[in-house]
Amino acid sequence: MEMGSNFIKNIMKEDLETGKHDTVITRFPPEPNGYLHIGHAKSIFINFGLADEFGGKTNLRFDDTNPLKEDIEYVNSIKEDVEWLGYEWENLLFASDYFEEMYNRAVLLIKKGLAYVDDLSADEIREYRGTLTEPGKESPYRNRTVEENLQLFEAMRNGEFGNGEKVLRAKIDMASPNINLRDPVIYRIAHATHHNTGDKWCIYPMYAFAHPIEDAIEGVTHSLCTTEFEDQRPLYDWVVRECEMESTPQQIEFGRLNITNTVMSKRKLKLLVDENYVDGWDDPRMPTISGLRRKGVTPEAIRNFCMELGISKGSGAVDSAMLDHFVREDLKLKAPRTMGVLNPLKVVITNYPEGQVEMLEAENNPENPEMGTRQIPFSREIYIEQEDFMENPPKKYFRLFPGNEVRLKHAYFIKCEEVIKDEEGNVIELHCTYDKETKSGSGFTGRKVKGTLHWVEASQAIPAEFRLFEPLITDEDEEMEEGKTFLDYVNPNSLEVIQGFIEPNMKDVKPQDKFQFFRHGYFNVDPKYTTSEKPVFNRIVSLKSSFKL
Ligand code: ATP
Ligand code: MG
Ligand code: MG
Repeated sequence: MEMGSNFIKNIMKEDLETGKHDTVITRFPPEPNGYLHIGHAKSIFINFGLADEFGGKTNLRFDDTNPLKEDIEYVNSIKEDVEWLGYEWENLLFASDYFEEMYNRAVLLIKKGLAYVDDLSADEIREYRGTLTEPGKESPYRNRTVEENLQLFEAMRNGEFGNGEKVLRAKIDMASPNINLRDPVIYRIAHATHHNTGDKWCIYPMYAFAHPIEDAIEGVTHSLCTTEFEDQRPLYDWVVRECEMESTPQQIEFGRLNITNTVMSKRKLKLLVDENYVDGWDDPRMPTISGLRRKGVTPEAIRNFCMELGISKGSGAVDSAMLDHFVREDLKLKAPRTMGVLNPLKVVITNYPEGQVEMLEAENNPENPEMGTRQIPFSREIYIEQEDFMENPPKKYFRLFPGNEVRLKHAYFIKCEEVIKDEEGNVIELHCTYDKETKSGSGFTGRKVKGTLHWVEASQAIPAEFRLFEPLITDEDEEMEEGKTFLDYVNPNSLEVIQGFIEPNMKDVKPQDKFQFFRHGYFNVDPKYTTSEKPVFNRIVSLKSSFKL
């Protein structure tokens, strides 16, 4: 799969042609502070995809410079997700492996008079930084001597100060029109245990300082990131230059992926998990890679979706129906068709011999005949869908109603003769008759019916659970009312759990198997809740689509 022409590809091509680089090296640099989401898939697709097109390499590098938020659980899930998406990294790297080198580079900055230890508090630093229209103010500690700075920085490293007591700042320009260059903080104190380095460090480099050094150490040629880092590019270049890195990576920005009705931030997704709005990072309603996997979305569908997105600077929200479209496209020929009744209504076929069960042949995928056929039982008692019957139907209702005849998929025509109700007047059973002549595949052309219903034979049907999903968040794209957070927009009806029945030949389904249930859509066998007694099916997408490419 090759991406169309785009501005990043053009830069890489030119760099190879002019000899600026003799290979392309990219990296995917997640911070292990949460699970990956579909937005990360775009970044993975671009980093791995572009390097691959030029015969280059991509590293998976954990940007693990903040021990307060990071965890090995996230490291492991990220590795699993990248592999599942179908990518192979060249090297598995950790920014924390370069802490010593970063420290040395910071010492170099101090020696060059380009960094100083500041005692101002975080609030004061923010206040002194100024605004877009107003220049910043210099810290009273800005002109400490090199000697003093070296001593204090070492004391910071040795744990002589508490959290927040001191920081190391780059000495650049407090009047710069780019606020990022107004003496950014490059090291802070955090007495915290790190998942990789344990308690070895109590000072940690800030992203803006660490990231360019990481890229340069690894010989990354093109450091791709999202557009919110555009204003940090001058700082990125400053760090590479002033730290005297041997290699010079180039930062290039592309547009962040946003999807309608979808939360796309690890911080917010973590809140949904921590506050138990969902049953974990892999809840099928989550836009995480693990959630999409558990719902049943395939890596192929995600990659095709990313291919369609392409690379642009814009970040307007993409319609969530677009991903659904690629799911249907991918599963169309792969997923076997089957029948499942979500809300069962018993039907007794009164003129069908009692005790008789016949086997009917059903094709597994009419669009892919190679998938063959299966045998399904039919007898005097079956289940149909409750909503496929109406006692007093409106016009153009072609399903069952008293006196009407419909086709049962793969079986016979049946006609509704009698409606059985309980004491409260609820319909609990239908009595129908069937016409032997109308058997599916017999070539019967005697008369036509307009409705075709799915069904399962009652005595052999397997109980199954169906889980249907709606967006987790309603109106995410709308302006939020004052004082409200996105948690106020959590959709209380995002999960519907239904007990129904499936065909008996589905008894050996395995977690992550995918099917198309006739008329209901594509479903995935849930790996978490499925038991040997009862499979649980997550609906991936319904069959209808309003989405047009
Ligand atoms: P979040 O705000 O969700 O935590 P992040 O950008 O902080 O995202 P990182 O772990 O730093 O997450 O991301 C690793 C890479 O993935 C970065 O290069 C980042 O730009 C990219 N990325 C993250 N979210 C998106 C998105 N929505 N669209 C495209 N790329 C993204
Ligand atoms: Mg980040
Ligand atoms: Mg983040």
